[in-house]
Amino acid sequence: MSRCRLPARGADKKSVVRLIVITSFCCVVYGSYYLSLRNGIDGLRETGMQRMEVYVTSLNSALEKYNFLPKTLELNNDVIGMLNAPLDQQRVATVNHTLEQINAQAKSNVIYILDLNGVTLASSNWNKPRSFVGIDLAFRPYVQAALHHVPAQFYAIGTISNEAGYYFAQGIYHNEKMIGVATVKVSLDQLEKTWVQGGDKVVLADENNVIFLSSVPALKYQTLGSLPTSISSHLAVTHQYDKQRLAALQLTDVQSFSDGTQIVSLHQPGQQSHFSVLSGMYLLSQTKLMTEPNWRLIFLSDLSKVQKSARAASAFTAVAIGFLLLLILYFRQRQLAVKQSLSAKEVLQRAYEQLEVMVQERTFALNATTQELTQEVAMHYKAQMTLQKTQDELIQSSKMAVLGQMSAGITHELNQPLTALRTMSDNAQVLLDRGNTAEVRKNLIIISEIVDRMGAITRQLKVFARKSPRQLMSVSIRQSIVNALFLVERRIALEQVRLIQQIPEEDVIALGDANRLEQVLVNLFNNGLDAMTHSDVRCLTVHAYSQSGRVFILVGDTGAGIADEAAQRLFEPFFTTKAQGLGLGLGLVISAQIVGEFGGKLSGRNASRGGAVFTVELAADPVNH
Ligand code: ADP
Repeated sequence: MSRCRLPARGADKKSVVRLIVITSFCCVVYGSYYLSLRNGIDGLRETGMQRMEVYVTSLNSALEKYNFLPKTLELNNDVIGMLNAPLDQQRVATVNHTLEQINAQAKSNVIYILDLNGVTLASSNWNKPRSFVGIDLAFRPYVQAALHHVPAQFYAIGTISNEAGYYFAQGIYHNEKMIGVATVKVSLDQLEKTWVQGGDKVVLADENNVIFLSSVPALKYQTLGSLPTSISSHLAVTHQYDKQRLAALQLTDVQSFSDGTQIVSLHQPGQQSHFSVLSGMYLLSQTKLMTEPNWRLIFLSDLSKVQKSARAASAFTAVAIGFLLLLILYFRQRQLAVKQSLSAKEVLQRAYEQLEVMVQERTFALNATTQELTQEVAMHYKAQMTLQKTQDELIQSSKMAVLGQMSAGITHELNQPLTALRTMSDNAQVLLDRGNTAEVRKNLIIISEIVDRMGAITRQLKVFARKSPRQLMSVSIRQSIVNALFLVERRIALEQVRLIQQIPEEDVIALGDANRLEQVLVNLFNNGLDAMTHSDVRCLTVHAYSQSGRVFILVGDTGAGIADEAAQRLFEPFFTTKAQGLGLGLGLVISAQIVGEFGGKLSGRNASRGGAVFTVELAADPVNH
């Protein structure tokens, strides 16, 4: 259970860390966006303030220079004269000319004089098609204000000229009595043109929130919010904006700052192209209130650039953080890899050390085993030596046994010449006494021959009895057969056995040891003779030949053949079918061993014509072959 919980806790921790990293990442990215936006807005605000200052100053200076113009007309005697005699056409004409001149010099739009009823008596545009002369302007607020002794300034669209302008109106006094009103209309078109060319978004709204001057033409004669009905009807009465349709701007206040600055968005679908440029935009709106007149200068700054750079800043921050995270990840991964490789190295070192210890242990064990093995080999070698010695002794013993068996025959063989020698020597004495030296000589020759024969027998026995070394030499098969037969020829003769020899003219030479091979052959001959003891036909055959680098010696007899019980056990030590005292059951075992040492093979089988055949197979001597 605890094993299951641990990774879950690890995973929880991981996901918490991941959440913290993602949240921090978002916070930092948003923070950089916010800071960049705020810096941008601060910059715009600063610029806006400065620009507004410039705009207000230029506007004030543009208007102020006309402020005193109406008052100066009071000083003109022609004007005073005309107002005192308004029906005097001559005076009116003079004033018209004077006003025309002043208007041209002051670069104002139009200058005109009204009587106390608000009707224009003289005007600088007296000779223009839309002359103000004779027009009743009493409904205009600036006229009314002036008639009420209040100097007035008023922005409005001319009801006759249809041209917008700023009106300065003031009463004309003579002897401290108002006799008329002087009005100067100044066009702000030139100023507005410079605003448009300036590229800023700046508007001027009057005290009723009607925009009457704008660097963006589309915003002109729009209202900041909807107008109350009282104001609308007042404007209709005063014809301030004449026939202009005043629509309310759909400004949405997005955010307001403590200094009155606002972020607004403007929605005014279906408007002119200029306007659609602003539509949907976020704008920074700054307002500067003016006194005399009570106007409001509104400076609009496009926030899209600031937004764009804030977005770029946040994107850059995101990329930088991403890069930083990647860098951290890379270094962490590197650290991990180094750590892993170090621990792998340590593991490898430990494994190497363990291996070294194991190798040492194994080497030690191997040394011990090698030592044991060496001892065993030595023991084995010793045992083999003992075995070989025993085998040699056994072979020698069996040889001696054969000799023992043959001792009766040998004794007989030696007794006969001895008897003959006795007789011959007795005869020699008698013959010597008689002086028959010739016969004595003959006898002595025969005696010498008999001694030679006896010597040959004993020599043969001596040779047979000697211990031969285990060395392979060239062995004459013919000679070995002759020597072996010599030892059994007495028995062959006694038992009336017919001997058939088939030995090639050219001798057969095999590899082996003559003495031992003779021992084998004597054993085979004796076995054959033993087998024929009760046979009617007694025939011992010896057949030798060489074939394909091998030498074969076949010893056959006409006995009863190999008994069934003996067939499988011929080469089994101490197996014999012979009566006690006649056989030890070691002859074939020892013979097979001797032949085996020569690199040959001994086998026995029953012949098809009866009797047994034993075959000695040897390697032919390659030198003499
Ligand atoms: P032993 O002659 O002392 O019995 P061998 O090893 O020479 O010992 O022979 C083992 C046995 O093999 C004999 O007892 C005999 O039964 C059988 N044998 C050997 N030679 C012949 C043979 N020529 N004919 C029949 N049987 C034989």
